[in-house]
Parts: sequence; structure tokens; C-alpha cells
Amino acid sequence: MTKFDMIVIGSGSGLEVSSEAADRGLSVAVIEHGPFGGTCLNRGCIPSKMLIHSADVMETIRRAELFGIKAQVVGVDWDFIIKRAVDTVDSDATAVEEGNHQHPNITVFKATGRFVGHKTLEVGDERIMAETIVIAAGTRPRILDIDGLADVPVMTSDEALRLPKQPRKLIIMGGGYIAAELAHFFGALGTDITIVYRGSRLLRQEDDDVASRFTEVYQRRFNLLLNAHVRRAQRNNDGISLEVTQDGQAHTLTADAFLLAVGRVPNSDVLEVEKTGIETDSGGFVRTNEYLETNVSGIWALGDIVGRYMLKHSANLEAAYVAHNIFNAADMVAVDYHAMPHAIFASPQVASVGPTERVAREKGLNYVVSTYDYYDTAFGASIEDKDGFVKALADKESGEILGCHIIGSEASMLIQEVVNAMRMRLNVRAITQSVYVHPALPEVVQRAFGSLPA
Ligand SMILES: Cc1cc2nc3c(=O)[nH]c(=O)nc-3n(C[C@H](O)[C@H](O)[C@H](O)COP(=O)(O)OP(=O)(O)OC[C@H]3O[C@@H](n4cnc5c(N)ncnc54)[C@H](O)[C@@H]3O)c2cc1C
Repeated sequence: MTKFDMIVIGSGSGLEVSSEAADRGLSVAVIEHGPFGGTCLNRGCIPSKMLIHSADVMETIRRAELFGIKAQVVGVDWDFIIKRAVDTVDSDATAVEEGNHQHPNITVFKATGRFVGHKTLEVGDERIMAETIVIAAGTRPRILDIDGLADVPVMTSDEALRLPKQPRKLIIMGGGYIAAELAHFFGALGTDITIVYRGSRLLRQEDDDVASRFTEVYQRRFNLLLNAHVRRAQRNNDGISLEVTQDGQAHTLTADAFLLAVGRVPNSDVLEVEKTGIETDSGGFVRTNEYLETNVSGIWALGDIVGRYMLKHSANLEAAYVAHNIFNAADMVAVDYHAMPHAIFASPQVASVGPTERVAREKGLNYVVSTYDYYDTAFGASIEDKDGFVKALADKESGEILGCHIIGSEASMLIQEVVNAMRMRLNVRAITQSVYVHPALPEVVQRAFGSLPA
């Protein structure tokens, strides 16, 4: 049994804590069974956004005619598109792993870890323990129990981001952001997309108006089966066939590829966290207090496995708090999740911060709301964005900004100024009384807040 000062399980945002501990002179074990850098680098944010940029370029070319440019695409170099992303993330992952090996205070365990007793883990043939343990083991794609699924070629986002051959026809099951982003990626590059989703609207976590508009746009772009359930999967000559029911009607769909994008499950089961006495919620997410300490003193958890906001910037924020709280036991700070934003890099883009209007209503907040269309601004009209809008929410009495929901071009960037204002707990005047570059796209944000009823 080898004893360390700290064990960190997972090399995603967990590395923020392990590197600080190692730099302070602690002996640290880092356990990672996959490539270093975790989901974001290897199977998530980075490769998906690199691939989606190719889709965005294609879309720009296809829309060129709207601006008087006659352009023709002569081909898609699929190998190049995939290789650009894969080479970048693989070399980054190698560099991160190398950096960990080289640190004199870090011991890397390249194997699956699982708890076997109090603060004790088995990794490969070894047993290790530490008084301080950080669980940052993330999540994996959920696989559904569908009749026949085991016999058909099915992929998740893990494989979809490294697919050696572009599918001709792809069925995507799911209606969340991963389904939406991957439909855009494959669809813009020419794959025939069918989305099968059990809900009545895509992106149902978003503000209702945004989700409805997004669903309308995807209805124009793709074959969309809403309120639909996959009953059975079968292999056929071309690939797969799915039996789907929608509003009581049976359909048979065929495709050469099938992507499951139906959520993520926490890796707490593989880790057997119960063996060290850690409590999880009904979904298997590790329970923590506001400082991110689990019910076992000295064991901390952060990132997706905690299941609060399953986003990289949230995992990084939590890692900074865990590092602070471990090294400042007398001065612990509760995580400030105020104004946690997110963006969906589909087409159209979606970005959001703060409660949706439905949540604001359910919480009984005293709010005012206003919506402004991109097309009613000079830049929105010049780029022909006819679907985009910004929805702003503020407190009726104090004017404090409560939230903002955007669908349309560059939504992921437009949201940032609202996040910055909200993190400072500012009033709408921080936006309405500022000076905006004319005629730039952020004017649509200013007009949305400027149109709030007084
Ligand atoms: C397709 C996709 C696109 C995404 N796009 C975005 C985006 O645009 N923006 C955004 O903010 N977020 C995005 N995310 C989410 C983001 O990737 C995660 O929120 C983030 O990576 C979580 O970090 P983490 O450190 O908690 O976990 P992870 O990064 O998942 O790290 C956990 C690590 O633990 C390892 N591990 C797990 N169990 C064990 C074990 N028992 N033994 C050893 N090692 C183990 C895993 O191999 C993994 O490397 C995306 C996710 C996906 C899937």
C-alpha cells in the first residue's frame, strides 16, 4: 500500500487541483484510465467545436447567394476535417500527460481506479491511499436499453467526433445540446439527418421561446420526429433500421449510422464510491456540501460527477474552489454559481444565463421581460439573421439583471457581456447606459434590455 498526501481521480478539471497541490510540495497521485485532459479535450468541447467550425464554413458558403456571391462547393474532405480535430486534441492530451509525468511530486496511474475501502483505491495491481482525495471522474454517454440495440452498430458522441467515414444517412436519438450540435455538424456537411426525440420541443431546458424557435429552424433543416419513441433496432443490408412510434403511429426508419445522444451518466458506479462511504443522489451523482466536500471528511468532488452544471467552465470554477478550500480549511468559501452561462454551438447558436422565463414565473420572481429581434438591428439585417432574438429579464423593482436568453448568430459571444454584468450584480443600466459600437451586433442585446418596461 502506497500512501500519498493527495489522490486526484480524473485528469479533466481535477488537474487544476493536483497541479496546485504538487506545486505546493505535496505528493500527489493522479489516476486516469483514458487520455489526459478528460472529456472536454478528448471527446467534448474542443473536438466538437473544431468540427463544427467546418460546418459553419459550409453554411456560410451555402448562404453566400443571399449576399450576391455565387459559390459552389466541389467537395468535403472528411479525412482532413476529422484529422484536424483528432491531431490537435491527441497532441494536447499527450503534452498534458507528459507534463504530469515530469512533475517530481506527481505519480501517474494510467488505469481504472476503484475504491476498496476507507480512502483506499485499487489501481491496476496496486493499492494506494491518501487523507485527501479529489473525485473528478466525470460522466460517460448514457446507453438506452432498446430492444435489439446490442446487435446494431450504434455510436455515441465519443465515436461521432472521430468517425472515419461520413455517414450518408444518420439517425440521431435525443433532443439536447449534443444532439443539436452534432446534427448541425453532420447535416451541414451533407449527411441526411433524422432526429428522433421523445419530447415535443428540442432543447427543452432552454427558455420556451428559444426552444420553440430552435425547433422550428431544425424542422426546416432536418427530418424531425418529435414525441417519438424508438421501439426496436435491427441490422439491415445498408446499416440499421429502427422501429419508431410517434403519436400512436408506427414508422420504420433506415440509415447507415445511428447516434445515441440521450444524456450522460456519472462514473461513480465504476469508482464504487460507496466502498469509502460516499453518498450519491438517485442519479448516482456524488453529493457534496456548498464547499464541494463529500459526506466523508477529506474527500472532495467536482465537475460533471457532482452533476450541478455539466459544463467545462463550471468544472474549472469548482476546481478553483476545491483547491482554495483544501488549502484554506479555516477560511472555506462556498461556490458562487451565480450567473452560470452556457452556449450551444449549433446553427442557430443558443446561449443563456440566469433563469428562463418559465423558471422565473415558477419561482414567483417579480420580473419584467423584453424580446428584441436581430433583424430589427442594422447588423442583424445586414447578415440576414431572420430567426435570431434576445430575451432579457430583470427584477421589476431594483432593475437587477436576472437573465438573458439568445438564439442567433454569435449568441455564444453576445451572452458574455450580460454574464459579466450579472456576476457584478449590476442593474440593467450597466447595459442600457453604456455606449455600443454602431452598427455592431451587440446592439441587439442593448435594445433588448433597453426595451424592458420601466
Ligand atoms: C460532445 C460534448 C460536447 C461538449 N461541449 C461542451 C462545450 O462546448 N462547453 C462546455 O462547457 N462543456 C462541454 N461539454 C461538457 C464538458 O466536456 C464537461 O463538462 C467537462 O469535460 C467535465 O469535466 P470533468 O473534469 O468533470 O470530467 P471529465 O473531463 O469527464 O474528466 C473525467 C476523467 O476521469 C476519468 N475517469 C473516470 N472514471 C475513472 C476511473 N474509475 N479511473 C480512472 N479514470 C477515470 C475519465 O477518463 C476522464 O478523463 C461537452 C461534452 C460533450 C460530451
